[in-house]
Amino acid sequence: MRAAAAKIVIKSPREIELLRAAGRVVHRVLTELGDLVRPGVTTAALDARADELIRAAGAVALFKGVRNPQARMPFPACICASLNEQVVHGIPDDRPLREGDILSIDCGVRLKGYCGDAAATFPVGRVAPAVQRLLDVTRAALELAVQEIRPGRRWSQVARLMQKCVEDGGFGVVREFVGHGIGQEMREEPKVPNYYDRSQRHADFDLLPGMTLAIEPMVTAGRPEVRLGDASGWPVVTRDGSWAAHFEHSVAVTADGVEVLTDGN
Ligand code: MG
Ligand code: MG
Repeated sequence: MRAAAAKIVIKSPREIELLRAAGRVVHRVLTELGDLVRPGVTTAALDARADELIRAAGAVALFKGVRNPQARMPFPACICASLNEQVVHGIPDDRPLREGDILSIDCGVRLKGYCGDAAATFPVGRVAPAVQRLLDVTRAALELAVQEIRPGRRWSQVARLMQKCVEDGGFGVVREFVGHGIGQEMREEPKVPNYYDRSQRHADFDLLPGMTLAIEPMVTAGRPEVRLGDASGWPVVTRDGSWAAHFEHSVAVTADGVEVLTDGN
């Protein structure tokens, strides 16, 4: 268990400032795109706006060109735009958003060598109350993690609380995709799961000041199992077709708690 922690890079205050600067760009993109989400807008248009904002900030979009062994093509866009039953890795396209949809937008950038990564799920117009509750509970699970992270705790203590928050709400926690360390690379050690069971005990780690993590609960309205959504190898969808939400912040563990790096401060 200590061996897993040994691979985790502890960041200096200067590095955390650089991560925060990258996080501010991500926050700006998500805030502006969130304001644009409405019926009739296409996710391709949102992606084009993200591209402009990221370039104007002097940053680089991290998702564009990413490869995965199951995919036919590198990821083609700046943002992941995951609609309704899509959980993550949705590809922006020209279909107009419809009233009642939910859209998860995930954005990652590198600025001056350091990465920021955050996501949020937005309602399109008015959504059903049960759908709004899915968004509220997923956001609450992320906020709970931010409240509970502090040095001296194990990650599993936080993960258990997130899982309880989600499951008490009647929803499912995705197991196949998890959060991650973040720094000069978007994905560093450790893996940061949103649940805890015995299978995770060897990957558990102590929370230490200077650790920087991307925390990202992915929550399903039905069963938690997921599968690839189409032949492109990118969009991940719920197996049962239920809708899913995704909220993410990059954070730094401090001497007495945590600082969110992607909240615009
Ligand atoms: Mg992300
Ligand atoms: Mg992430």
